[in-house]
Amino acid sequence: MHRLIPLVLALLTMAGCATVPVMTNPGQPSAIQGQPAERAARQFVQVVDRVEPVAEAECRRLLRMSANCDFLIVVDDRPGQEPNAFQTLDRSGRPILAFNIPLIQSVDNADELAFVMGHEASHHILGHLGRVQQDATIGAIVFSGLAAMTGADAQSVRSAEEFGASLGARTFTKDYELEADQLGTIVTLRAGYDPVRGAEFFTRLPDPGNRFLGTHPPNAARMEIVRRTAEAARAGGV
Ligand SMILES: [Zn+2]
Repeated sequence: MHRLIPLVLALLTMAGCATVPVMTNPGQPSAIQGQPAERAARQFVQVVDRVEPVAEAECRRLLRMSANCDFLIVVDDRPGQEPNAFQTLDRSGRPILAFNIPLIQSVDNADELAFVMGHEASHHILGHLGRVQQDATIGAIVFSGLAAMTGADAQSVRSAEEFGASLGARTFTKDYELEADQLGTIVTLRAGYDPVRGAEFFTRLPDPGNRFLGTHPPNAARMEIVRRTAEAARAGGV
């Protein structure tokens, strides 16, 4: 069972979640060339300075005191990648929020960067990595169990286990994305940024639509939950 978990985790990490690939025409200047490097770097540092303490405070408020809320922000500078951001854990369980250079450069304003950061931090606060692992484990057990009951050979049982893990891992990802958008809205607001303006980042990405077992919710559903949460939070004096 255990060998499945790093695989699923790796897939999840590779897929990232703040972004889906931005379409660019081959041979054309990239649509996401964005702002000059110096401005982008300065904006990133400012957003980290304001969002990280708020995310840490929100993490401590919502989780037990023993939880690891000391976010480490890392910049992924591997070349040739699409804009991406993701949340993961290091070996000691410290939460890592990773952003690559194309993402840092492709945001239109600091609100967008703050929203992506709030969203990724929220995945940690809400325990999504652990929940995806659990969903994958359940899927693997059910599928391999069903295959074994029908008298499948060892190879087929193993394939069923892998398929079940992948199916399980994808079952609730759209819900987790919307949950992270919702808590991310609060973190963004508390850090002094505009989450509705920030979430407009999604409107420039290809809309994944509402595909069965797709990993991302439709852009309209994301904007809707951000708008509603921001309204409620502002009315409640957040
Ligand atoms: Zn996400």
